[in-house]
Amino acid sequence: MTKDSETNPSRRDFLTMTSMGAASLATSLAATGLTGSAHAKEGEPQGESKEADSSPTKQLELLFLGTGAANWPRKYPFKDKSHPRAKVRAMSSMLVNGHILIDCGPTVLDVMNCYDVDPAGITDILLTHTHSDHLHPGNIMSIANGRDASLGPLKFWGDPEALKKVPDSDRIEKIPVEHGKSFQVHGLTMTGLAANHDVHGSKEQCLLYLIESATKRAFYATDTGWLPTTTWLHIERKPLDAIIWDATCGEGKGDPRIFSHNDLTMIRHMNQTLMQRKVLKPDAKIILTHIADRLHPPHHVLEKKLIPEGLIPAYEGMSVVLEAG
Ligand SMILES: [Zn+2]
Ligand SMILES: [Zn+2]
Repeated sequence: MTKDSETNPSRRDFLTMTSMGAASLATSLAATGLTGSAHAKEGEPQGESKEADSSPTKQLELLFLGTGAANWPRKYPFKDKSHPRAKVRAMSSMLVNGHILIDCGPTVLDVMNCYDVDPAGITDILLTHTHSDHLHPGNIMSIANGRDASLGPLKFWGDPEALKKVPDSDRIEKIPVEHGKSFQVHGLTMTGLAANHDVHGSKEQCLLYLIESATKRAFYATDTGWLPTTTWLHIERKPLDAIIWDATCGEGKGDPRIFSHNDLTMIRHMNQTLMQRKVLKPDAKIILTHIADRLHPPHHVLEKKLIPEGLIPAYEGMSVVLEAG
C-alpha cells in the first residue's frame, strides 16, 4: 500500500480480519444480533497505479470484481455502487493486492470502473481457464494497451494450452503455469493447482490458485467441483486464512452441474474435513463466489441464511483484508 492509498477515502466495503471467521462467526453474530452485512465497513482503497516492487509482501487484500456464474448478463449495468449488493452479479474475477487480477472476463472493466479500480495498475493476470466468462480477449488487450509502455508488457499467466487463446501482442508476455509448481508475483507466491473442471474441446488443465504472502494464505477455488486428490494433497499441510469456493449450484439437488461445480452440500462437506484437518484456520474466511442466477435466492436472503453458519457470499466490491499478524 502506498501512503496515498492509505489516506484516500473509498466507497468499497472491507471485511477485516477480525470481523468474520469460520469458527467464531456464529457466536459473534448471536452475541451482537448483527447480520453479516453489518460487519462490512468502509475502508481504504486497494488499487495502486504504479508498478509494485518485489519485496516480500505480508498483507493480502482480495477485492471481488465478479461473483457470478456464466448465466448472468455479460454486461455489468451499474455505473457506481448505488445499488443493492449483488443485485446483478458480474463474471467471476478477483483482484489481489491491487495489481494482480485473477481472470479477465467480459464484465471486469465495467466493475473496475464502478469500484474505482484503475486498469492501468494491473501488472499481472492469472487465468483459471478459458471459458468465456473468465477470458475476454478484448478486455485483456484494453488492459495491456492502457498500461504505461515503459513498465513493460502485461504478464499473463496460465496453462500452456489455455495461453493459446490469449491475444498475441508485444504488450503481453505469456508465461506458462505448470500445475503444482509455484511462481512469484510481486512478493507473493502463487501456485496453480488442478481444478475438477473441463473446457470442452481444449487440452488445458483448468487451474485454481493458492496465494501466499509472507504470513497469509488464501486459496481461490473456482471453477471446480469436488477437489481433485492432487490438489488436496498439495493444500493438506498449508493452513488457510481464506478459501474462495465455486458455489455455482446453490442447494443444488439433482443439478448435473455438480460434476464441474460445487453445490452447498459439497462445500459444507469439504469445509468439515478442511477444518478437522486444520487446513482451515479457526478464523479463516470461507467465501462463496461463482454464484449462479436462479440457483440461489437474492443476496440479502443468502447472507441471512449462510453467514450464521460461517459462509460468506461474496458480492461485487467486497474486499477482504487478511492483515499481517
Ligand atoms: Zn465460470
Ligand atoms: Zn468454467
